[in-house]
Amino acid sequence: MHYFDYTATTPIDNEVLDTYIKVSNLFFANTTSLHRLGQESNYMYQKMKEELKCILNVQNHDIIYTSNATEANNLAIFGVVKNYAKGRIITTCIEHPSVYEVMKNLEKEYEVIYLSVDECGRINLNELEQAMNQDVILVSIMWVNNIVGTIEPIDKIIQIVSKYKKAKLHIDAVQGLCKVEPNFSWNDVDLFTFSTHKIYGPKGIGGLVYRKDIQLSKRLYGSNAQNGIKPGTLDVSLISSTTKAFKKFYPLTSFHQNDVLNKFNYLYNNLKELPFVIINTPLENISHYIINISIPSLEGETIVHILEDKEIYVSTGSSCSSKLKVPEKTIMAMTKNKLYATTSIRISLSHLVTKDDLDILIKAIKEVNYV
Ligand code: PMP
Repeated sequence: MHYFDYTATTPIDNEVLDTYIKVSNLFFANTTSLHRLGQESNYMYQKMKEELKCILNVQNHDIIYTSNATEANNLAIFGVVKNYAKGRIITTCIEHPSVYEVMKNLEKEYEVIYLSVDECGRINLNELEQAMNQDVILVSIMWVNNIVGTIEPIDKIIQIVSKYKKAKLHIDAVQGLCKVEPNFSWNDVDLFTFSTHKIYGPKGIGGLVYRKDIQLSKRLYGSNAQNGIKPGTLDVSLISSTTKAFKKFYPLTSFHQNDVLNKFNYLYNNLKELPFVIINTPLENISHYIINISIPSLEGETIVHILEDKEIYVSTGSSCSSKLKVPEKTIMAMTKNKLYATTSIRISLSHLVTKDDLDILIKAIKEVNYV
């Protein structure tokens, strides 16, 4: 098996799985139960949350655990904007559906501005500056694009947004954490989102890290768990596995980044020799974990299935929308080319990918055109 869909999800790491199993056996009691077992679970939950805050170096923030990043993105956006009856929201035209579709829904009540991107998938900072005013209640921009790997200039975005007191900044950090060294401090970001299954942890858990002084409006009603904002029984084993995954992989970010850079270069140099391949991923300001290409003679979905027959697994884009035959939103915004946007595939890398895997993939792509 040759897996190149690490952007969609990663296999669980053995040490993280070990943590999951141990904690599920030892701390199964409900964190809200008053008896000793419950209080031990609660202590473990609090400890794991504090450890994660230390790893991310965010002392002024709190964390709300959710079932995944989709839920965390929804919570961040609704949580902030529902405190206001009206106002302006700024986002981009290349967000993941878990942000983009929320924005579409909010258009009925709020003024939503979608920033455009250039041919590299980067927003234009002047456009952001012009869109900012005293009515802005939220700016939501992804750190690393999940389709092509472009890194948005979060350091500059922080500078611009922080001039406006009311405006909160939300960053979808899902594809950047443990993959790209941030050139900004998380302390300067009001809210950001992570997903544990993207960093070799289990599925079923993500989170919203948010500055403690932000009042999130409630979407769910129930117990007082997680300040009543995300009520319901907590899974301490998923929470502990999240901290374990961050503890293991966050300090390895640079090391893995360099390793993946070499793999990216090898793949890139081989693919650029193929006349029938268009490389959509730009070369600068990117996460080297993603190479997006188009093969205009074949639909993206067809390429996925041809490769699958050779036990090679790639994706047509965001796995959430990959069954729909609509032009891929990010590729369309960058290239303005419908053909490229319907014939694209996303190859995503990891430190786990071997040179052998890459050679097998390159050979298969060379043959794809003759199928
Ligand atoms: N944001 C981005 C940038 C993503 O790539 C993904 C996963 N495709 C998500 C949000 C949603 O993550 P989850 O699968 O945990 O809901």
